[in-house]
Amino acid sequence: TMAHSKALLVLENFIGGKFVPCSSYIDSYNPSTGDVYCRVPDSGREEVEAAVKAAKDAFPIWSSKSPWERSQILNKLADLIEHDLEAFAQAESKDQGKTITFARTVDIPRAVYNFRFFASSILHHTTECTEMATMGCVHYTSRTPVGVAGLISPWNLPLYLLTWKIAPAIACGNTVVAKPSEMTSVTAWMMCKLLEKAGVPHGVVNVVFGTGAKAGEALVCHPDVPLISFTGSTLTAQQITEKSAPHCKRLSLELGGKNPAIIFDDANLTQCIPTTLRSSFANQGEICLCTSRIFVQRGIYSEFLKRFVAEAKKWKVGNPSDPAVDMGALISKEHLEKVRSYVKKAQAEGARVLCGEGVDSLALPAGNQKGYFMLPTVIAEVKDESCCMQEEIFGPVTCVVAFDTEEEVIKRANSVKYGLAATVWSSNVGRVHRVAQRLQSGLVWTNCWLVRDLNLPFGGMKASGIGREGAKDSYEFFTEVKTITIKH
Ligand code: NAD
Repeated sequence: TMAHSKALLVLENFIGGKFVPCSSYIDSYNPSTGDVYCRVPDSGREEVEAAVKAAKDAFPIWSSKSPWERSQILNKLADLIEHDLEAFAQAESKDQGKTITFARTVDIPRAVYNFRFFASSILHHTTECTEMATMGCVHYTSRTPVGVAGLISPWNLPLYLLTWKIAPAIACGNTVVAKPSEMTSVTAWMMCKLLEKAGVPHGVVNVVFGTGAKAGEALVCHPDVPLISFTGSTLTAQQITEKSAPHCKRLSLELGGKNPAIIFDDANLTQCIPTTLRSSFANQGEICLCTSRIFVQRGIYSEFLKRFVAEAKKWKVGNPSDPAVDMGALISKEHLEKVRSYVKKAQAEGARVLCGEGVDSLALPAGNQKGYFMLPTVIAEVKDESCCMQEEIFGPVTCVVAFDTEEEVIKRANSVKYGLAATVWSSNVGRVHRVAQRLQSGLVWTNCWLVRDLNLPFGGMKASGIGREGAKDSYEFFTEVKTITIKH
């Protein structure tokens, strides 16, 4: 109805410093109520073409600014987002389903920090130089921005992951065309409103909203976009790789995970249990780094399981704006059904669901009855070959299994196609090092989870990705290097 559509938030693309309406739109849902509340441009080739042109036109001026000038602009943008932190946090929660508390303490502060971090790190890079005295030569390397960067991001940590790409890309002097997930576009659109005030010249940051199949693919196939930085699923990464192959594009791919937690019998369970609950269920289990396979050494298996399940049952699921709630809604109805189907498959295979989905009942407030909620779910007695132990579920479901030896658990932890993150729990320093060295995983946290220094490489092995992101890694990805030889 008209009255209904008037209340909807309508987003517009941001191209060449201007908001531009689109000819068609996609509905976007509030996951905690199930209502359509926002309309997102359904951009295609035409909109992407305009955005790439704007980015290309802006490149000569932006790329010739000094790192210091760009750094000041990034810091100003960080200040502006921080000034509106509460509004951003509320918008992220409404759009994604996560709790406001999580958006307020994790997503938006990190988006602010992404700009501050790269505003600083861009000032400190040095290039290489070698001397070849016998030839009378010195060699040095020079780094320059690549051009128009295509940035594609997922729905789980919307502004956090998008700014983790925009910040290094523009800090290095590139201009960008970004395409956020069609399911979570609002905070990117809000950020566009701050760009001019921060001093970002028109055309340096362009955002086209829309689906992966239309807008995403148009960006990947555009001949004037030499570089694509993508975070999302392994399946989409395969399509992007194929579509970009004719252009020999430079790709950075941050993909899925099936992350193990390995808990030895000398682990400090008082620290391990609450952290492993968070690593399993934070952000509804919708973080690529979430734990979904918990290997517990036989001697402490029953005690761990008892305490872990008792704590999981205490997690409160419901209205994301309620400060007492630990877990909000999943991203979509389809995703909720997919996550639930894994629990059903596990049961059909004879596994035991110890708490959560299908076992406990979920009482929701009146306004949230149609939201996409589910309880934290713990599954035991599941075989390593089961799809619940092999495939990324990306929801609040975690499997707990027993192991006997170090050798055995390393082999089992490595026996999946993914290799993103792992946690290892033990008070034996030697063992912690040995196991960390042998895990096929881009990140290993021992006796902790999600403690990050953005200076260091972030990314996955095997099907979890290609390339790394971080101060040095992103600098290398977003610049072209040249070796120059000077003979006297
Ligand atoms: P997705 O692959 O479905 O979508 C990611 C983005 O790609 C979206 O913007 C989407 O519109 C776009 N896209 C889809 N098809 C496309 C195509 N053919 N061409 C171009 N673009 C296309 O992933 P998702 O469901 O949004 O996100 C969840 C996934 O992301 C999970 O697998 C999760 O593990 C992964 N993830 C990885 C990291 C990491 O850093 N490794 C971080 C967060 C999420």
